[in-house]
Amino acid sequence: MSNPNPYTIIITGGIVSGIGKGITAASIGRLLINRGFTVRPVKADPYLNRDAGTMNPFQHGEVFVTDDGAETDLDLGHYERFLNQNLTRNANFTSGLVYHSVMELEREGEYLGKTIQVIPHVTNEIKRRVALGAEDAPDFLTVEIGGTVGDIEALPFLEAMRQYRDENRTRTAVIQVVKIDYLYPSGESKTKPIQHAVTNLRSYGLQPDLLVVRCKQLPEDGELEKLALFCGVPVERIIPAPDVDSLYDIPGAMEKAGITEQLLKLFALPDPGAKGTAHEAWSTIATKEDAQQGEIRVGLVGKYTHHSDAYLSVLEAISHAGLAAGVHTKVIPIDSESPDLLDQVSTVDAVIVPGGFGSRGIEGKLAAIKYVREKGVPFLGICLGLQLAVIEYARSVAGLTEATSLEFDETAKLPIITFIPGQEAIRRKGGTMRLGSYPAQLTAGSLAEKIYEKYRPTEISDGLIAERHRHRYELNPEHVEQLEKAGLVISGKLPEIGLVEFIELPPEVHPYFIATQAHPEFRSRPELAHPLFAGLIEAAKHFITK
Ligand code: GLN
Repeated sequence: MSNPNPYTIIITGGIVSGIGKGITAASIGRLLINRGFTVRPVKADPYLNRDAGTMNPFQHGEVFVTDDGAETDLDLGHYERFLNQNLTRNANFTSGLVYHSVMELEREGEYLGKTIQVIPHVTNEIKRRVALGAEDAPDFLTVEIGGTVGDIEALPFLEAMRQYRDENRTRTAVIQVVKIDYLYPSGESKTKPIQHAVTNLRSYGLQPDLLVVRCKQLPEDGELEKLALFCGVPVERIIPAPDVDSLYDIPGAMEKAGITEQLLKLFALPDPGAKGTAHEAWSTIATKEDAQQGEIRVGLVGKYTHHSDAYLSVLEAISHAGLAAGVHTKVIPIDSESPDLLDQVSTVDAVIVPGGFGSRGIEGKLAAIKYVREKGVPFLGICLGLQLAVIEYARSVAGLTEATSLEFDETAKLPIITFIPGQEAIRRKGGTMRLGSYPAQLTAGSLAEKIYEKYRPTEISDGLIAERHRHRYELNPEHVEQLEKAGLVISGKLPEIGLVEFIELPPEVHPYFIATQAHPEFRSRPELAHPLFAGLIEAAKHFITK
């Protein structure tokens, strides 16, 4: 049942991109959930790509994947982690998708010969997709408009939101996220860009009800009053958002600054106060942060190591595992093409080889895997990381010296990682990749089974778990026996079809060497660390004290 009229909070951003709209939307959502409301988030991305799947992570950050196989903007990861809920493809749409739907309808004759225009056809489609986000009747809907107000491609979105707001006056609030500017070199703070950003938003017919003001430290006396006057927003609805140490401290800081109270007042809703299980679960994060002692250094061997957003969910999953294990974690980015890669690997307490595409940097990743396998350094391989762990084992241990992946060499003699024809049935609509959630049957008594039982006992039943995927190639089942004979443990398989989902080494050979074809990072939550990451950090604690 859909709620035709949820309280809707529209979040826009002014001045610069990457200003924290996603975290703001996620934080507000969490604060409302902590008061017992139901909340759904939607992210509307004005870029023209149909989805984020084709976007370079170096430019745009990681591609997040939902259970139902949508390739989305990374903000959905923030939403899932803050709201502790699994989202669907309805939570993210782009201009490309909107225009595509309108064009399809035009071809099908749905518009009965009318001239198709941005207003009303494109704006109606935007409003229809926003409403899809409220499909399961939440109390609140947050709608984040990607990009910065003033971007040309965002115009139809802002116009659609103006209409939406006019249609739902008392149940819609607009929040603009902005930042205080600091002059170079004096450091003097300036609010003029905020005034202009708000004027710009107003020119599209949207007056903000609330401002979230990013800043280095709390604004000086009088600054907020000045903003209130120039921007037409009451001073109590200007929420300063100074920098904090951890992302997960942001909802608490915003709450203190009065954001929930002000929103509920705007909607004329009584404030039930924060209480109950969601509130308690969130509070445990701060308690765990306070209890962290010591530090584990995790080497992340990848291609885009200088651009941390490319591995955002992996970084978050590592920090959640640190919370679970009571220890600080520090990620050491290790460039897989660096000439002194092994020197760097030799200084860390655990290694992760994350997902990736293409052949650049793979020799470095293989060398890192060989090192950690031989030296007993705790290791987690993710997707490409599993494929490389298998190739390394095949080459070094199983005597298959020419083993490689079809992805790296189309004419390979021994592509033990390969594209398996006839698997179309397991690939979702039109895609050439295995996308979204798939089950895995874990081997009884394996490390994989043990850690899922330990960290997520409610999510494993008779050894069956599920994880999200985003990949094209698989371990060729024809080589499984050979690898097993050489000592590699296949500890999880896709039921019925039998594709390899997990590999590991036995405990007498290595304390923690495990890899999965899936992307476990997408299901890690601050309240509930993912077993594979929690197991890695726990193993690293033993490794450093050895
Ligand atoms: N490039 C590999 C594949 O397509 C791995 C993908 C990934 O790591 N996400 O199978």
